[in-house]
Formats: sequence, C-alpha cells, structure tokens
Amino acid sequence: MSKSDYYELLGVDRNADENELKKAYRKLAMKYHPDRNPDDKEAETKFKEINEAYEILSDPEKRKLYDQFGHAGVNQNMGGGSGFGGFEGGFGGFEDIINEMFGGGFGFGGSGGSRRNGPRRGKDLRVDVTLSFEEAAFGKKTTLEFFRTETCDVCHGKGNEPGSATHTCSTCNGTGEVRYTQRSLFGESISVKACPTCKGKGETFDKACHQCKGHGIVKKKHTKEIELPAGVFHGANMQIRGEGDLGQNGGPRGDVIVVIHVKPHKEFTRENNDIFYDLWVSYGQVVLGSEVMVPTLDGKVKFTIPAGTPAGKQFKLKGKGIPVLNGYGRGDQYVKIHVDIPKDLTKKQRELLEALESEMGNTKSSSSNAQKGKKKEDKSFFDKMKDALS
Ligand SMILES: [Zn+2]
Ligand SMILES: [Zn+2]
Repeated sequence: MSKSDYYELLGVDRNADENELKKAYRKLAMKYHPDRNPDDKEAETKFKEINEAYEILSDPEKRKLYDQFGHAGVNQNMGGGSGFGGFEGGFGGFEDIINEMFGGGFGFGGSGGSRRNGPRRGKDLRVDVTLSFEEAAFGKKTTLEFFRTETCDVCHGKGNEPGSATHTCSTCNGTGEVRYTQRSLFGESISVKACPTCKGKGETFDKACHQCKGHGIVKKKHTKEIELPAGVFHGANMQIRGEGDLGQNGGPRGDVIVVIHVKPHKEFTRENNDIFYDLWVSYGQVVLGSEVMVPTLDGKVKFTIPAGTPAGKQFKLKGKGIPVLNGYGRGDQYVKIHVDIPKDLTKKQRELLEALESEMGNTKSSSSNAQKGKKKEDKSFFDKMKDALS
C-alpha cells in the first residue's frame, strides 16, 4: 500500500509555513477526530494519517528529511509492526494541539463525555542502542533492557493494600470523573477530567498498597529481543509497537522507539551505503604499480594499484559497501590513494632520488616538444623509473 504525500494529506503547499501547517492540521483533526466520528474506521485511519503527516512536517528536521527522501527518509514501515525513521529523538508534539482542542487526554476509542474513562494509549518510551560500524552494516540481534509501567502485582492495579477496606469516592460518587466548564478555541464546552481525589478509580481506601503506594502501577525492568536490520544508520529510529508504558482503561501500550547510534570505524567512513577508505602507499607504488591488501567489511582483499596512478585517485570496489536497509544489494567501497612522502632519507635513497629527478628533468624537456607521442613517452618514463629504483 503506497502512502499518501504528507503535504497532500494536510492540503497544504510544499512551502507552507508553521502557521499554515498548524491551521490545516487543526481543521482536519477536528473533522476526523474519533470522538466526532465514533465507530468510523475510515475517519480513524484518516485521523492517524494526518497526525503522522503533521508530526513529521511540524518538526523542521523531520520535514527536511521528508522533503529530501520522502517517506523512506522518515518512516519506512517494516514487517512486524516496526518502522524506521531518519531522525534522532523528539517525538510526539502534536498531542499539545489535540489537548488544546479537546481539553484532555489524547486517545482513540471512547466517545463524548466518557472519554476520560475511555481507553487511552500508554506513553512511548525511548531506548538508545549503540552499534559498532560492522553491526550496523550487517544487522544485529540484541536485547533491549528498559523500565516500563506494569500493573502492580500486589494489589492487581486496585491501589489498596490487599485486605484493607475500600470506600466509594465522595468527590465523584464513584464515577471516577469530575466535570468542568471549559472555554477553548471552539467556545464553551463541558470537559471531563479524572477525579483528583481517587485519580479516576472511583474508590478510596484505608491503606495504600505497600508496593505501588496506591498508584496501581509500578515501573519494572523489561527485556525485549529485537533484530536490527542490516544497513541501519546512525540516528535511525526503530518503532516497536506495543512495548511501551501501559495504556489506561484498557488502552494499548505505547511504543518503544529505539534510537540507533553507530560508533565510528577506525579505518572506514560511511556515506549512505558507501564506504570510504584511505589507502596510503609509497611514491614507488603508485608510479610503478603494486599489489596491496585492502581491508573491507568482508575481510582483506587483494587490490592492484595500476602503474602511474595519480595521488588522490579513487577506485571503486563494487558491492563492498553497506547492505541496503530493507532492500537488496549493497553500496560500494571507495579506495582513495594517498602518497606517503618520506621525511628521513638515507644517503643512498637521496642519491637515487636525485638521479631520478635529473633523469626526469631530461624526460620532461624532451617530451615537451613531442606532444603527440605522449603515451609512448610516458611508458619510457616508467621504464626509466624502474631501472633507477631497482
Ligand atoms: Zn499495588
Ligand atoms: Zn473520585
């Protein structure tokens, strides 16, 4: 299923500024909010889409990535309900507007005044993972360890110490919610909030649970095995659905957002799926040509420097780069030739070089009047070099 363009979804121009985006989003969010369209799957899908579009476009960094790479840059959906993004940190944000509009919790399901007690999705959690250069290239199975909220197993979420008496909350008469008249952008409205006395439970108790202090939830360490795909890059985000904090009133858990960090390599640098390697060789090696071993992600490979290679020349080792994330094939490795200039020469080395220089001087003056025979001239030049250095 192909995704719609974020700008089209919001019905704005590609150059739309922050205000225009916000205005367009607000209008659409009002129209498609699940509370206004109960049991309308289409509206819910549309609502999610415009939320996603606004979340990306309202963040300058994400917007830049989206403009550059499209959906692939910010949110490539993968199997198993995971996704990748090309940005680091910072998610959410649009909830503020929703809250401003609807005066309360953001969530799907539930309707009208009972929304406060309707299901609400749990919080998203960020987990950072640091990979070596090679692990990022070839993927890695890893176990995430993080703290998330769980239902308290002593009171089973009720909040009271087992066996202690509970009472119907006198503030809310057991409904768990209180009503306020609220003035918002869209006029006066009745808004419903969780009862501050019982925190929405509808009950108070004589003695709070010793483990959760009455909250009914506790933070617990959780582990989750995940497989980071080959080709993942520094700053990428991976979304693992339903592994975040507990939802409320039967709402689903939030997500875990894995933020990828990749350690630099000692020898390689990376640009997208290509790898760059600096090869340092001697003057003789580039002039005469030579065979050297070059490190690659797959181990050392034999590499032939052709005779007469100029310093700074770059060679391509096809397919020796990084595997394409969620795709096929690999990038390439580029080997850039650098010439090591010796500083301390022995007497003999100096004499030989001086001899070579004078020989080259001759070659130069003779070649200048023979432009046409340049190829041939070069060859004899190398032969002379060979003689001088052997
Ligand atoms: Zn408890
Ligand atoms: Zn209450």
